Amino acid sequence: MRTLLTLIACCCVLATASAANDPLISPSTKSSVGGSMGSIAPIRPSNPGSASASASGASSAPRKLTEREREAEAESDLSAKIAARLAIMRANQQARVAAAARAKKVAAAAPVVPKVYSNHWSYEGENGPANWGKINPEWAKCSTGNRQSPIDIRDGMKVELEQITFDYHPSSFNVTDNGHTVQVMVGSGNFITVNNRMYELIQFHFHRPSEERINGKGYEMVVHLVHKDGEGKLAVLALLLERGKPQPVIQTVWNNLPLEKLETMAPSTVLDPLDLIPARRDYFTFMGSLTTPPCSEGVLWLVMKEPVQASPAQMALFSRLYPLNARPIQPGSGRIVKESN
Ligand SMILES: [Zn+2]
Repeated sequence: MRTLLTLIACCCVLATASAANDPLISPSTKSSVGGSMGSIAPIRPSNPGSASASASGASSAPRKLTEREREAEAESDLSAKIAARLAIMRANQQARVAAAARAKKVAAAAPVVPKVYSNHWSYEGENGPANWGKINPEWAKCSTGNRQSPIDIRDGMKVELEQITFDYHPSSFNVTDNGHTVQVMVGSGNFITVNNRMYELIQFHFHRPSEERINGKGYEMVVHLVHKDGEGKLAVLALLLERGKPQPVIQTVWNNLPLEKLETMAPSTVLDPLDLIPARRDYFTFMGSLTTPPCSEGVLWLVMKEPVQASPAQMALFSRLYPLNARPIQPGSGRIVKESN
């Protein structure tokens, strides 16, 4: 009898645990399991008539089953049910293992597709300056930076700024309309020295109107000369353009404009970037960023105080290509601006 009670207890625990935890058993299966177990919960005493019928077929006098025989019958009944239940559990377990293996196979077979971000930005509309930081995570600084350019230059600290040393020479060059501006790549060997650091001129390009303002005043255009030092740090020299006499370097660039965007014109002539620099070399300086995506910070800005003249015809020619390619003014965020006394 003790064996029987142990088996019943064991079976009930198995049934409860597996029915509750087995996600593969549907509610209907559960109820059927419960039902089947329910049918065995009350251990019915063997019907003396039916159980003994076959056994008693041969004997003429039906006899009552002994207590021991009834127990044996109940035990064998229960053992069969437990075996059936275990078979269901094993089948479920196998199904789970197979499903996990299938899922792993599918995951391994699926190619990892990195999210592709757009590199398209513009000066107006949906891809305009207000959204640059959202277009590509690598451009986040455009939104989150606190040393962004351009700025409205005001309240400069007047100090005796060291003169910028220009070591520019007639150089080979090529001209590209890159879809955002006209850019001039300059041959190597042109340097400026400022704060005891040497930066090499890489390229210069144009914006209309000027991105920088000085005490709120904007200019018709600006030229940005982008320099890089040995560590990759950038220094941008800004030359504000105002209407006046023709500018020879600008004329050389316009003469060599490619006929199509994204094409490069590489003329055999040279230009001397020194011819762009105004006679008076006073300047403003502050830390800022690139004014186009990715808006990287840590850029040393040098804005010449004296504007450079260019003719109305030269200005008009650029405005046909780019009537507006200037990023709006960015917050100063308390940064220090120094200016030549
Ligand atoms: Zn620029």
